[in-house]
Amino acid sequence: MTVHPGGVSTEEGFAKTLDQMDPLAGFREEFVLPCGKDGSPLVYFLGNSLGPMPKAAKALVEEELDNWATLAIDAHFRARVPWVDYQEAIKEGMARVVGAEPREVVAMNTLTVNIHFMLASFYQPTATRFKILMEDRAFPSDRYAVASQLRLRGLDPAEAIVVAKPRTGESTLRTDDLLELIREQGDDLALVFLGGVNYNTGQFFDLGAIADAGRRVGAVVGYDLAHAAGNVPLSLHDWGVDFAVWCTYKYMNAGPGSIAGAFVHSRHGDDPKVPRLAGWWGNEADTRFVMGPSFVPEKGAEGWQVSNPPILSLAPLRTALEQFDRAGMTALRSKSESLTGYLAALLAAIPSSPLQQLTPDDPTARGCQLSLHYPSRGRWLHDRLRDEGIVGDYREPDIVRVAPAPLFNTHHEVWRAADAIRRVIAEDGAA
Ligand SMILES: *Cc1c(COP(=O)(O)O)cnc(C)c1O
Repeated sequence: MTVHPGGVSTEEGFAKTLDQMDPLAGFREEFVLPCGKDGSPLVYFLGNSLGPMPKAAKALVEEELDNWATLAIDAHFRARVPWVDYQEAIKEGMARVVGAEPREVVAMNTLTVNIHFMLASFYQPTATRFKILMEDRAFPSDRYAVASQLRLRGLDPAEAIVVAKPRTGESTLRTDDLLELIREQGDDLALVFLGGVNYNTGQFFDLGAIADAGRRVGAVVGYDLAHAAGNVPLSLHDWGVDFAVWCTYKYMNAGPGSIAGAFVHSRHGDDPKVPRLAGWWGNEADTRFVMGPSFVPEKGAEGWQVSNPPILSLAPLRTALEQFDRAGMTALRSKSESLTGYLAALLAAIPSSPLQQLTPDDPTARGCQLSLHYPSRGRWLHDRLRDEGIVGDYREPDIVRVAPAPLFNTHHEVWRAADAIRRVIAEDGAA
C-alpha cells in the first residue's frame, strides 16, 4: 500500500474504507444527482455553485402549488405551513447554520439585492470616515454593488475602496496582514466588507478576528457568506458581526436563484431608528394589515423585509434546512475536512505535477473547495475532467474549482477525481 506522508493511502480501497466509516453516508440517497451519458451519476463537485436537488424539495414545492390551486388566498392562513408565517418555519434552522439568534436572520430577496439593502442601512459615510475594505478577487457582483452604492452617495470608488491584497508571490491573504491593514486604515474605515470564504481562492477568513479588529477601529463589519453558509462553522452573533448576507442555492441546496439570507445583529435589529429601505412586509407583523401611512419596523432582521415572500422559493429551503439540522454542522464540517484534506493529499501525491493549489493548506482556513491553478491550460483541464465525468468549474485565470460537499459526495468520488486529474495531467505532459 502506498501511503502518503499525510497518512493517506492512494489506493482505491482506502477511499471505500473511509466511506464505510462515514456517519453521513445515508444523505447521498436523499439527493438527485446529475448523470452522465452512460446513466451513472457524475462526480458533482459544484455544490459551491449550485447545490443538487434534495428529493424532498419537489414534494414541498408541489404541496405549495396544490395550496395555491385549492386554497388560493386562504393558503396564507390555512396551509399546513401558513404562508403569512413562512418565515417562522425557516428562521431557526437558518440561524443555526450561520450561528445567530433566530430573530437576527431573515430569508428575503436575492443575494446582491441584500448587499444593497444592508449597505443602505449600514454604510453611513462621513467626510472623514468613508472607506470600504474589500478582499482582492472579491466576487464581481459585490464589487459592483459597493461601487454603485459609493457613486449613489457621490463618492469615487477608486478613492473609497481599499483592497486587501496577498503578498507578492502568494495567492491568499495572511490574517496578520489583514488585521494590520484594518488598524492602519483606522479612523478612515467606515466598513469592512469581505466574502467569508473567497469564491476564487477558497480561502476562509478568520471572521472572528477580523470582526473584532474592524469594530475596534470603529468600523462596521459585514460579510458576504455566499461560499460560507452551509460550508464552514459560523458564529455571527458571538463574533459581533454587524450584518451578513448569503445565498441559499450554493452549499445550502435550496435551488436555482432561491431566496437569500440576511443577518442583522440584535444590537441593530431592535433599533427602529436604523435607517433602511422599507416596504410593507418589514412593518410590525401586528399592525402590517392596518395599512397605516407610517412605517413601524418589526423587531429583528425581519424589519428589513420589503415584500411578501416568494413561497415557491422558500419551500425547498425548508427541506434543505431540515437536512442540515439532521446532519448537524459539526458532523458536516468534520466530513468536509476529511473529503477536502483527502483530495489535497491525493493531488499532492501526483508526481511532477504542474498543478498549484491556491487554497490554503490549513484546514481551518478553507471549506470544501480547492482552487487549482493549472498554468495556461486551466480551461483545457476543466474540459478534459468533464469528459471524465468530473464536474468542477472554470474561473479566470486558469483556475479549476472543485468542492466535494459532505452531504452528498463521497471519498470514493474524491479518489476518482484525483485519479482522473493524475491521468489527464500525464496525458498533457506526454502531448
Ligand atoms: C454566488 C455569489 C454571488 C451571486 O449573487 P446573486 O445575487 O445571488 O446572483 C454574489 N456574491 C458572491 C460572493 C457569490 O459567491
